[in-house]
Amino acid sequence: MHIVAIDGPAGSGKSSVSKACAKALGFGYLDTGAAYRALTYAIQNLGLIVTQRSADQIATDFQYSISLNPNDYWVKVGELDLTYEIRSPEVGAGVSEFAVLPQVRQFMLNLTRSLVESSGLQGVLVEGRDITTKVFPEAKTRILLTASEEVRLGRRSAELPEGTIVADQVTKRDQNDSKVVDFLVPAEGVILVDSSELDFDQTVRAITALVVNK
Ligand code: C5P
Repeated sequence: MHIVAIDGPAGSGKSSVSKACAKALGFGYLDTGAAYRALTYAIQNLGLIVTQRSADQIATDFQYSISLNPNDYWVKVGELDLTYEIRSPEVGAGVSEFAVLPQVRQFMLNLTRSLVESSGLQGVLVEGRDITTKVFPEAKTRILLTASEEVRLGRRSAELPEGTIVADQVTKRDQNDSKVVDFLVPAEGVILVDSSELDFDQTVRAITALVVNK
């Protein structure tokens, strides 16, 4: 299986670029942030408890599923479809607080590996914060996708409802997240793709070419 690991900060265009690359390559696509968001939603709204719990206990209590098909994306907890709910500002503001917990990160690492390994796909593009360094350090292709802070803020503000304080959503979350994983500097062997000067199609082409040339 060809695993493509892509890490990067919020607003780097990671999700939309990764999805488009997966379609172009005929690979599966796994958005790992969705599980952190769904977990946060379940804590906020469904009574899920993760403090004082082990990774295995979280796996039992949190019945998570996600589509790896880039043409049919959905996220569920139990029978509940949360594809849109996990993008809310409440979830965005709460997610880092739970993402720092070691038992949550251990659960997510196990979950991500098992989703990829049991997929039966010839290739999967896995996107997140710690995929190149922790989850799949042996991936065939490892990429860190960045963009300048100014460009990232601009891209995010185009996605969020008007009047949202974007700096809170992007900069603060990145500051919190980068306390536990370094996704701003590429680890050894990880290819840096800076999309500040590239448009969407150019970024997709650059990443697709890196994968094909492996
Ligand atoms: O990618 P996305 O912005 O949806 O991720 C939401 C949050 O999940 C991040 O802000 C981070 O706290 C957490 N996350 C993580 N490790 C990953 C993916 C996401 O800590 N691999």
